[in-house]
Amino acid sequence: MNIGKEVLEALKDEITEIEYKRYIQHLTYDTKKSTSDLAIFYAPNALVVNWIKNKYSAKIAHLFEIKSGNKVTVRITLKNTTQEKQKTKIKAEVKPNSSLLNPSYSFDNFMVGGSNQFAYAAVKSVSENAGKVYNPLFIYGGVGLGKTHLMQAAGNVFQNEGKVVIYTTVEQFLNDFIRHVRNKTMERFQEKYRKCDVLLIDDIQFLSNKEGIQEEFFHTFEALKGAGKQIILTADKHPKKIGGLEARLQSRFEWGLVADIQPPELETKIAIIKKKCEINKIKLDEEIVNYIATVIDSNVREIEGILSKLHAYSQLMHVDIDLEFTKNVLKDQLKENRQNLTMDTITEVVAKDLNIKPSEIKSKGRSKNIVYARRIAIYISRELTQHTMPQLAQYFGMKDHTAISHTIKKINDLIKDDEDFKTKIDELTNKITSAS
Ligand code: ADP
Ligand code: MG
Repeated sequence: MNIGKEVLEALKDEITEIEYKRYIQHLTYDTKKSTSDLAIFYAPNALVVNWIKNKYSAKIAHLFEIKSGNKVTVRITLKNTTQEKQKTKIKAEVKPNSSLLNPSYSFDNFMVGGSNQFAYAAVKSVSENAGKVYNPLFIYGGVGLGKTHLMQAAGNVFQNEGKVVIYTTVEQFLNDFIRHVRNKTMERFQEKYRKCDVLLIDDIQFLSNKEGIQEEFFHTFEALKGAGKQIILTADKHPKKIGGLEARLQSRFEWGLVADIQPPELETKIAIIKKKCEINKIKLDEEIVNYIATVIDSNVREIEGILSKLHAYSQLMHVDIDLEFTKNVLKDQLKENRQNLTMDTITEVVAKDLNIKPSEIKSKGRSKNIVYARRIAIYISRELTQHTMPQLAQYFGMKDHTAISHTIKKINDLIKDDEDFKTKIDELTNKITSAS
């Protein structure tokens, strides 16, 4: 038995069987890469990595020391990180076929609350009176709030009535256009889009600054509208706010009805989570549903991601989904969200809080309060972003990475010695993570 296995066996006696089975059992020790002062373990997924890092790595290091007499650094990492990354990437790139509607995007599966009732009512009404009430119907709102779902819900109704429905994104419309231009088959392109009964175009904001396709789209629009065919469009903002759009298109987008979708309020979020659980046969206690609804702001797509992650992990590890388990999975997710956090945001929040200008933080200014603010910004950037020390040095106008590590050490010492300072850093960190 290798020393890594021995240590894990010893750990078994110190923790509960459930904990062992859930987390420790999945670890493998790298006999080749580990050395007398470095122990490398692989875990099957990020959840286990995090959990073990937080809860057991000190214990594991201690057990190593007892067994080998050496001080050992314990490193827990993902198995085949690159492969896993690739896998998720491929998955993300596969897009559903454009013309196929998702049958689960139905009105029945759409939970209605104050935030989306206007858009819902508008789409519902259009689905019952194609081409007669609001044409075009323009739905706009933030990412993951249900625009595509609603639009396709109408599409499904029309399709079931035997109508010819085209669902496409601007991107696909554009690709199709280019292909037909290249093959000199533009008549077929025009016929296709002008002969349908209902045209659903998603994410219209991508028409912005693309003159050629705007022109083509304009003619398609006119032909369909003239023939009384229903058009439904979505975008991430109001037509007026989409820059780089021909005036004639912009005004036409407002001819029918423009309806917005707002982020769901708590009750709607709860209803959505319950619905998704019902559809995907996931069992969650009330307590967990409420927890997820509270910590995830608004993006429904993100909520779905969490549910499927929870489901996958619980199957993988043969455990029920309890609150502790959920919190751990969410910790991961919330961390991922922070990857979008920029140093600009951090600098702005810190500057504002300490009453100086963001540009001063990035300047070479040596006055006491500027240096203080800069150090804090550097420290928080290191904690919350993935940037390397050289990148931080460049951004904050410091000489090199040693200046950064020096700064971080200073702040760490301060945090250790001064409770008030620690509180200050925590407060700022909270402000920053809620600002992003
Ligand atoms: P958008 O097009 O606005 O970015 P989507 O329509 O793709 O968002 O919605 C993202 C996910 O969230 C979809 O799986 C959708 O089913 C779900 N969703 C959003 N809003 C609701 C809702 N009110 N009820 C049920 N599911 C919803
Ligand atoms: Mg969409």
